[in-house]
Amino acid sequence: KASEQLATFNGHGALADGTEVALLANVGTADDAQAAAAAGAQGVGLLRTEFCFLGRDTEPTVEEQTEAYVEIFKAFGSAKIVVRTLDAGADKPLPFLTDTTEPNPALGVRGYRTDWTTPGVLERQLQAIAAAADQTEANVWVMAPMISTAGEAGHFAGLVHAAGLEVSGVMVETPAAAITAEQILDRVDFVSLGTNDLTQYTMAADRMLGSLAELNSPWQPAVLRMIERTAAGAQAASSASGEHKNVGVCGEAAADPALAVVLVGLGVDTLSMSPRSLAAVAAVLSRTDPGQARTVAQTALHATGAQEARESVRAQLPVLEQLG
Ligand code: PEP
Ligand code: MG
Repeated sequence: KASEQLATFNGHGALADGTEVALLANVGTADDAQAAAAAGAQGVGLLRTEFCFLGRDTEPTVEEQTEAYVEIFKAFGSAKIVVRTLDAGADKPLPFLTDTTEPNPALGVRGYRTDWTTPGVLERQLQAIAAAADQTEANVWVMAPMISTAGEAGHFAGLVHAAGLEVSGVMVETPAAAITAEQILDRVDFVSLGTNDLTQYTMAADRMLGSLAELNSPWQPAVLRMIERTAAGAQAASSASGEHKNVGVCGEAAADPALAVVLVGLGVDTLSMSPRSLAAVAAVLSRTDPGQARTVAQTALHATGAQEARESVRAQLPVLEQLG
């Protein structure tokens, strides 16, 4: 029954025709990881590693970090865990890394850029992630936040491989990264769209400002076009390299069942979300065909704003009403 499908997730995300769409979890602590595994998540699509650094005056040691990552990796056996390297700055300031006098912190030294001002922190974190991967069965992928150029992606991939880790990727959180996704994916194995920041930077609307909520919506057609462009870049890079380059979404957008259909229709392979959203997203996807997903994606791309996009897509997906 529809209501039962909404209550549980069977651990296998797919469209009505069987096309797989892995449904992963966003986690920020070991407790989160255990809850996500219990909810049936097929792995972790975003491990926010800030938990290890928050509330401290100094950088945690490699040993301390390794222990923290091992505890999380263990919750998922041999499943995929996408670890995001430290995303300090802007909405996540850290006392020993963040310059609080910057005039525009969201456009300042944040995420991957802290490697320029405080070299060594990223290498030590990668060392800890590699050690934790060695001590567990986890299939560890590593990605950097706040990337703007293919050169940065290439440099990050070099650091990841030097640490002994195999799979490197970057987040697509800036329009620059979305537009150059093909060139970025010449250097790394996968991308993950951080729609919270991608929306903020595409719409020039601060994600912390409630008064800008309508602009700051991943339903905005301009944001959806960035996602479409990223997926097309990944497809071109996949053809050129002969290797499938995975495109994930790990921002809040993936947790909205109607928007999840749009994302898949735009060419997204995997969705990562808060575990409580897994069952609803899985239920809607399992009742949608790929052709239908592509059709609603086109509807959303051609809307005049977020509200029109959302309403017109929802009107085309009666399954949303049936599932309540
Ligand atoms: C995002 O920006 O969408 C994202 C997943 O990262 P965070 O919300 O941690 O900035
Ligand atoms: Mg982000």
